[in-house]
Amino acid sequence: MPDTHATPQQLEPWQWSEAQWRKLVGQVRAGKRYRPNGWKDGARCAVALSFDSDHETNELRDGGKSIGRMAWGQSGNRIGVPRIRKVLEKHGVKATFYVPAVSALLYPDEQRALVAEGHEIGIHGWIHELNSVLPREA
Ligand SMILES: [Zn+2]
Repeated sequence: MPDTHATPQQLEPWQWSEAQWRKLVGQVRAGKRYRPNGWKDGARCAVALSFDSDHETNELRDGGKSIGRMAWGQSGNRIGVPRIRKVLEKHGVKATFYVPAVSALLYPDEQRALVAEGHEIGIHGWIHELNSVLPREA
């Protein structure tokens, strides 16, 4: 039996009242529908490709203590992004790469090459921080 005097933060999600979970869900609702009545040249659908070039920032965000995860991050620059670029080039497709600012500072040549190839760069935070849990002041 849940403690009826406990605050929502003290309760586990399965103990929340319906009003509590409905309030949380209500914070993020889809707005107006933007899907057009038809796609260009009668296409059946439209596809957007996007990739996160997080590299070492996953580990940095979490404290930067694991050299294994740091090396894994570097492989994103050395192996992952080059492979993706090759596949995109092969098929003549442009994509969006979401890049934390720290990744861009670590690998500016990667960003320049992507832009030179016609891809789009989107900002993906400073150090891949979890924006939804940052304090408002941050
Ligand atoms: Zn990411």
